[in-house]
Amino acid sequence: MHAIVSGAGVAGLALAGRLALDGWTVDVVERARAPRASGYLIDFFGLGFEAADRLGLLPALRAHAEWYGELRSVDASGRVRGRLPISLVEQAVAGRYLTILRPRIVEALQSSLPEGVRMRWGAQVETVHDDGARVQVLLSDGERLEADVLVGADGVGSRVRQLLWGPNEQFVRPVADLLAVAWIGDDAELSADLGSRVAMQVELDRQLVVAPLGEVGVTGFAVLRGVTPQGARSAIAGMGALGRRAVRAIREPYVDHVAQTVVERWVRGRVVLLGDACAAVSLVAGQGASLAIAGAERLAEELAWARHPSDVAAGLAAYERDWRPIVEREQARGRRAATTFAPHTRIELEANRAMWRAAAIPGVAHLVARAAGGVTKAG
Ligand SMILES: Cc1cc2nc3c(=O)[nH]c(=O)nc-3n(C[C@H](O)[C@H](O)[C@H](O)COP(=O)(O)OP(=O)(O)OC[C@H]3O[C@@H](n4cnc5c(N)ncnc54)[C@H](O)[C@@H]3O)c2cc1C
Repeated sequence: MHAIVSGAGVAGLALAGRLALDGWTVDVVERARAPRASGYLIDFFGLGFEAADRLGLLPALRAHAEWYGELRSVDASGRVRGRLPISLVEQAVAGRYLTILRPRIVEALQSSLPEGVRMRWGAQVETVHDDGARVQVLLSDGERLEADVLVGADGVGSRVRQLLWGPNEQFVRPVADLLAVAWIGDDAELSADLGSRVAMQVELDRQLVVAPLGEVGVTGFAVLRGVTPQGARSAIAGMGALGRRAVRAIREPYVDHVAQTVVERWVRGRVVLLGDACAAVSLVAGQGASLAIAGAERLAEELAWARHPSDVAAGLAAYERDWRPIVEREQARGRRAATTFAPHTRIELEANRAMWRAAAIPGVAHLVARAAGGVTKAG
């Protein structure tokens, strides 16, 4: 059996690896010329953690993980408002948790790919013809491929979805007018000052998180309400002591509107959508990468036993039937999380600050850890 996967992101690579283990031939078509290095820290737990364990990916993910001692809430003047030991966050999910940079997840998936996966960098799907038994694809480099199934795992702005379902505006739903900016950079002084701590600042309509990466590296993440990509830098710098220091390290940031994707049907003939292409929960839900891996495993399991074209259709239908309710539940949770992430009213801001003050009370911190649901709240 043969699959073409558009997108070498988290979902596409996880699917390709699992299908190849089941004897499939997989062509992965990625628009970028090489693995993309941008992204921020991702709290990796939940369904994807368990799927990664079953897929044998945990050792590679653990090898690339970052380890922090404390999440620290600071105000605009740099004063510490609250502290949360990260061990409590880990305990809240029984240790089934790690913090990892998005590009390191992609690297780990890539390095675990078995034989049978062919990577095609710097290309994208141009046309698709589905004759009911096979799907034929013309790539931008002129090559023609034919397979049993085409998978659109090409992110929020999915190319496959645009070609077969329609324009992005129909499927991409902004969440609370939030802009996300994530970056990795160097600033030895800031890294040393942070030590093993992650610093977080929440203001009206803004959140900024900065974490050290080794001796010189730092990574940061900001969520800004009502700010354009062009205005992001000055909005972050305007957040006070941490913001002014954080912007110095911003290089080639990942900038995107916080959005979810809602697609009425994920399957069209022999073409199926996966990951953010159909099921983006958004950065503020904190489960995107985890769900991408778990969804890929689910789809692969449904296709693994297929030996005949009619099996593929049944497998695709079963994947959508079983996976959609989980995605919709996480999407609803993500929309609710938007207010904690970047409080829009004074009352919401005060509720956030009260939560941090409560973290100082012995015995209450573990409840705050559970409510925080993660250290970085991305991915
Ligand atoms: C560069 C980058 C940085 C990110 N940083 C963060 C972050 O800091 N925090 C966070 O929570 N989430 C981040 N995300 C999103 C996060 O990775 C996803 O929400 C999650 O992992 C779901 O994975 P996915 O594979 O469905 O989508 P993605 O991880 O977005 O992967 C989609 C892949 O498809 C490729 N692609 C796009 N268009 C085409 C095309 N026309 N043809 C072929 N390939 C195409 C993309 O280059 C990408 O490799 C980032 C995504 C990207 C691409």
